[in-house]
Amino acid sequence: MASDEEVLIALNSLAEVQACERCGTRVRFGDFDCSHCGADLEEAQRAWAERLVDRLKGDGRCQPAKG
Ligand SMILES: [Zn+2]
Repeated sequence: MASDEEVLIALNSLAEVQACERCGTRVRFGDFDCSHCGADLEEAQRAWAERLVDRLKGDGRCQPAKG
């Protein structure tokens, strides 16, 4: 069962602003292509997911969100 801290980490990750790496358009969570330029967002989403997992597996220190 997830701890309160783990739930907060997940919620904070969901609140991260995702933007297309090619054109900078903000994209909604769950989109797999940029609605503006059609760029494939899978790689950026994998990076996001890796950050989330790293935080969940982290040593308990809170890491400030970037940007
Ligand atoms: Zn784009």
